[in-house]
Amino acid sequence: MKFSCKKHCSGYASSRIDDLKFSEECGIFGGVSFNHNIAPFIQQGLFMLQHRGQESAGLCCGDKDLSIYKNKGLVMEVLSDKVIHNMKGKTGIGHVRYSTQGGSDVLHAQPHVINYLGEKVAVAHNGNVDAAVKMKKHLEKQGEVFLTTSDTEMILKKVVRELCKAPSLWTFEEIGEVLTKSFLGGAWSILFCVPGKVFAYRDPLGYRPLALCEAEEGIFVSSEDTSFQLLTRKKVIHIQPGEGVIITADGYEIKRFAPEMPSKMCVFEHIYFARPDSNIFGRNVYMARVELGKKCAIENPVDADIVVPVMDSGFAPALGFSQQSGIPFQMGLMRNRWVGRTFILPEQQMRRNSVIRKLTPMREVLEGKRVVVIDDSIVRGTTSRELVRMIKNSGAREVHFRSASPKLINTCQWGVDIPSKKELIANIYKDTAEINNFLEADSLAYLSLEGLKEIFGWNNWCYSCLTPSNVNSSEVMERNEYCGLIPAACAD
Ligand code: AMP
Repeated sequence: MKFSCKKHCSGYASSRIDDLKFSEECGIFGGVSFNHNIAPFIQQGLFMLQHRGQESAGLCCGDKDLSIYKNKGLVMEVLSDKVIHNMKGKTGIGHVRYSTQGGSDVLHAQPHVINYLGEKVAVAHNGNVDAAVKMKKHLEKQGEVFLTTSDTEMILKKVVRELCKAPSLWTFEEIGEVLTKSFLGGAWSILFCVPGKVFAYRDPLGYRPLALCEAEEGIFVSSEDTSFQLLTRKKVIHIQPGEGVIITADGYEIKRFAPEMPSKMCVFEHIYFARPDSNIFGRNVYMARVELGKKCAIENPVDADIVVPVMDSGFAPALGFSQQSGIPFQMGLMRNRWVGRTFILPEQQMRRNSVIRKLTPMREVLEGKRVVVIDDSIVRGTTSRELVRMIKNSGAREVHFRSASPKLINTCQWGVDIPSKKELIANIYKDTAEINNFLEADSLAYLSLEGLKEIFGWNNWCYSCLTPSNVNSSEVMERNEYCGLIPAACAD
């Protein structure tokens, strides 16, 4: 998780808690293994979730006590084989944390572990809690002390305060009730670990995915089901919104902890975030992205000679665009797979240079061609503008840019790292023609919001980053009434 100031002075060192926006788009993996230490399974599971977070990695495991290892860096750097070899026990949870703009601190790496009444309890969280700042302030006024600015630490401390007993005595229902009452409206796929037991929950609105795998090697939960591929799988179950699971050495039990209600599955997981070989929210990510490309081609046809993807996330939509339009698919841009993510670099110039290092044009493919370039999304426009220039400099006759998602016009309160509203190119220029002028392309078009909704559905999805306002208070009220719940402990 991370925060950035509303005024966009991002980082960890701000003293003005009021200005903080908690935000997290991470990966979680955990479970109980039957015959071997769980650490190698968690290491491998997290490695498959590396795309969900490159800032830090961590693992907590044990049978009678919990040991923890976490640090900044990629999974295989932090959780090296040497580290894993020394981590014993069959129960555990792990976490990868998303990169952030500005500084960071290892304190924010997860899992978070606390010692309470002589027992340890650990938590790993993917999501973002709505009332985090308010509730944190409220708890601080009651004497609570926080080591981090993380909403995850706050969730853990809230649960401790509400349950007020040794973690080994906590029940699935009790934790679920605290989570629902306190954090309804927030996004949380979350794992709690006490020695010998893992509790997993997916928030009642189901913003973030969570899947379970019954395998020969044990029972595991993960943000994405692709991370089960290294196991001998017997059964994979997708945990539904408002459901959770208790895992012990004796097996697992999936239980509902909150009433069913209209869900808010994050459409951006499908557009960009999740791995293409994962199945989330009832559909395969790759197939969904191909559909996005097809729809974009239907809505925004163009006379061109080749379709070129912006690798990696533009690959599947470009393929769909090509299949639908009949325009041949060509790899006109080559991706250097060793370059880190450009999106998170703090300076615009750094991001620009990084785009050039990441994607290089192939003159042999592009020269003299009318090119359609497809990316999954346009955020600040940095990538697209650089690419248009590169492709033109490589001799392309025309460059037509297509975004396989609608205009990104809002930030995300529920965890996807989207820069401040004023940095979004679709907010800087209201008109597509103006954005096109900025990109210096021959034409620009986006998939429409209606088109996107036709693919995914009109209800049960969160489209808030693609719509002007992402807080609908009457909706929140309705939801709370629906559950007979009052958002707890937020009042000063
Ligand atoms: P930009 O250059 O700011 O327009 O960024 C656009 C690129 O960032 C596209 O290639 C997207 O695949 C990628 N992208 C979109 N959303 C995110 C995100 N939340 N985190 C990292 N990369 C993203």
